[in-house]
Amino acid sequence: MEGGIAPAPEAGTTTLPKPLVLIVEDEAALATMLRYNLEKQGFRVDEATDGQEALTRIAENTPDLVLLDWMLPVVSGIEVCRQIRRRPGTRDLPVIMVTARTEDQDAVRGLNTGADDYITKPFSMDALLARMRALLRRSNSVPAKGRLVFHDISMDLAMHRVQRGARAVHLGPTEFRLLEFLMQHPRRVFSREELLDAVWGPDIHVEPRTVDVHIRRLRKSINGPGELDIVRTVRAAGYALDTEPV
Ligand code: CA
Repeated sequence: MEGGIAPAPEAGTTTLPKPLVLIVEDEAALATMLRYNLEKQGFRVDEATDGQEALTRIAENTPDLVLLDWMLPVVSGIEVCRQIRRRPGTRDLPVIMVTARTEDQDAVRGLNTGADDYITKPFSMDALLARMRALLRRSNSVPAKGRLVFHDISMDLAMHRVQRGARAVHLGPTEFRLLEFLMQHPRRVFSREELLDAVWGPDIHVEPRTVDVHIRRLRKSINGPGELDIVRTVRAAGYALDTEPV
């Protein structure tokens, strides 16, 4: 039984839109193979064959996820990724970098530029689909994005806006996802490893201390002067979103 990520069509008003994937790939045969398999798995597919076209497609019809080839004509994959992260409307758009084996070092650089994950050619469809599903779950693209509220903080997931009281809060992509995850589970304490799995994904190897760095950045942005620190550090356990004093 093949499991598609999208529900069956024609299921009435509760039917969720099929997730839209933008394939950015200059190898026509690979793009065709990806389109065929992704459509079979219940995705809608859009295509671009170079970096410039990718940016245009994203601006015209923002996908739920981008499969981004590293080596592209006109504008490189890394530059496309950088621009996706720079634009407010796509700052948190899930991006999977597709690289050739010889570009592995670059892929690591891609992650630093803001790609959420990467996969090395040749790859199996199963491996790709697992990564895509994990990312889509994390990014909350399925189901439709909504609003999260905790204490005096609100997150508009569709608009990528965070507010504390009347103040607009600007967060980097990782801090945004971190806050989103914590706001989905208020008051629950998560270890660094749990946060890494939930926010970065189980396939990405980063030091647990990285979590501390991003928590520090999150605190700096979300806690204005005189405002309550809503991130609780639980000694030897991890972090929680909480309004109770430590
Ligand atoms: Ca290529």
